[in-house]
Amino acid sequence: MAGWRPDWAALQEAIGGDLLVPGLPGYEVLRKPALARFHDTRPQGIVLATAAADVAEAIRFAQRFGLRAIPRCGGHCFAGRSSNGDIIIDVTPMRSVSVTGGVATVGAGVRLGDLYDALAVHGRTIPAGCGPSVGIAGLTLGGGLGTLGRKYGLTCDQLLSAQVVLPDGRIVECDEHVEAELFWALRGAGGGNFGVVTSLVFATVPAPRRPASTWSGRLSTRPPS
Ligand SMILES: Cc1cc2nc3c(=O)[nH]c(=O)nc-3n(C[C@H](O)[C@H](O)[C@H](O)COP(=O)(O)OP(=O)(O)OC[C@H]3O[C@@H](n4cnc5c(N)ncnc54)[C@H](O)[C@@H]3O)c2cc1C
Repeated sequence: MAGWRPDWAALQEAIGGDLLVPGLPGYEVLRKPALARFHDTRPQGIVLATAAADVAEAIRFAQRFGLRAIPRCGGHCFAGRSSNGDIIIDVTPMRSVSVTGGVATVGAGVRLGDLYDALAVHGRTIPAGCGPSVGIAGLTLGGGLGTLGRKYGLTCDQLLSAQVVLPDGRIVECDEHVEAELFWALRGAGGGNFGVVTSLVFATVPAPRRPASTWSGRLSTRPPS
């Protein structure tokens, strides 16, 4: 089937999120990543994935029609790797954050600023970056450097497990014990290489009582008690 004309209507029918193709409202805005350098890229379709199942459908669709699908979270990739594909799988609709017992379960589409805000409600944070619009997926999967790093290490050091849609469409959970090699690879080399991450589970740390950075407006803080 590779090379046949993609049946975009069928893809839209199969997914819970929206599919944007050229001409549809929103396409011109969402096709552009954060970095202006890549604003001239025009993917054939943008899948706004609301769940892992949407990601799996998009991957299978791309394979069926010989298209290249690539994931995008915050769109800050300096190399344009979240822009130069036929189909962009945009994970930003998956942006829930929940915290239980100091462990945060985070949708792969959360931006750092929103994540810090959600964790601060619980007096917690994670060591991560300074750009509030940077995506948690791209940052964590590339390592993740931040001002709390000297004390706690990289963002990916706090990762406990992840849900990943593999290139064959299977949805797997991985951690130190299950799919351990995948989990190892995700922590530093995971951006777009082994599958699409749909959720991340982090060990959190106490939010600093005063801003750990004067140059980051939204680094997590908590008021003095
Ligand atoms: C203004 C700015 C500030 C920055 N600040 C920091 C900082 O303080 N600390 C730091 O460490 N880095 C920082 N960076 C670098 C940033 O962390 C990386 O560029 C990171 O890859 C961006 O992630 P993203 O999700 O925003 O980008 P994207 O372009 O969406 O993704 C980056 C890569 O990850 C892949 N990817 C995205 N989502 C997924 C997914 N769900 N599953 C699998 N692969 C995926 C993409 O295909 C791409 O290859 C900054 C970059 C910018 C532009």
